[in-house]
Amino acid sequence: MEHSIESYIKNLVRDVIGQNLCGLQIQSDRQTYVIANWKMNKNLNETAEFFQKINSSHDVSVVICPPTQLLYPAHLLIKQSGKPIGLGGQNVHWVDKGAYTGETSGNMLKGVGCEYVIIGHSERRQYSFEDDELVNKKALHAIKSGLIPIICIGETLGQKNSMQTEQVLSKQLFGALKDIDSSQFILAYEPVWAIGTGQSATAELAQETHAYIRSVLKQILGQKAESISILYGGSANDSNAADYSAMPDIDGVLVGGASLNAHVFDAIINVFAKGEQNS
Ligand code: PEP
Repeated sequence: MEHSIESYIKNLVRDVIGQNLCGLQIQSDRQTYVIANWKMNKNLNETAEFFQKINSSHDVSVVICPPTQLLYPAHLLIKQSGKPIGLGGQNVHWVDKGAYTGETSGNMLKGVGCEYVIIGHSERRQYSFEDDELVNKKALHAIKSGLIPIICIGETLGQKNSMQTEQVLSKQLFGALKDIDSSQFILAYEPVWAIGTGQSATAELAQETHAYIRSVLKQILGQKAESISILYGGSANDSNAADYSAMPDIDGVLVGGASLNAHVFDAIINVFAKGEQNS
């Protein structure tokens, strides 16, 4: 797999002579995110308990994405706590309003305090048959509504085993990012085989894939690609977070299962916060 020249040089400098070259810090200005995807988990009491327990951090952007019916209570709980935590939805429709039973528009998410929304999660691609065209419509709608889309891409185990990872990711990126010229989005690389399986990608494999993703982003967005945060997702937890945080093209994590426990999630936040303080 091909590395971008920049990440190759960054890696080389970090590996061979450390992060500080004659006082010149090698760092990117990309935002680091630690994002929780609660999926269809937690009730109101559990949500209140979570926000009481979590400490969060000012050094990284922490975002919690609860189920839709918990968004407004979560917004109030975050405000009440005074903790630096952002709020995101797990899905959004692509029009402002209308006869779409069970759906939620970008304005509605904004109205209950969301700044972010996850789009194109592999579970929605699998269970709700969302394709790249739909992901693109939703991303455009989210941006128009003033939300930051967290766009998920990733290959299945079959695609990985048949060496199609790059082809799949490239198609997903070109499809999802059609007509998007803003850099107001976050990408999450979530290999489907790693989600909820405990089989996380090694940090080296994730780094290699993120570097490839950034090279495709450069074809689409030019130099703006350097400012896009690319998160890793797939069985990330408090034991493997440090490995991911050490990689130059991994700008944070999207966490499912391990985000449900406030102490575990805090430990992941602390790993990335420490990485930011040291960079
Ligand atoms: C996810 O669903 O976005 C995810 C990364 O899940 P998990 O961390 O449980 O693999």
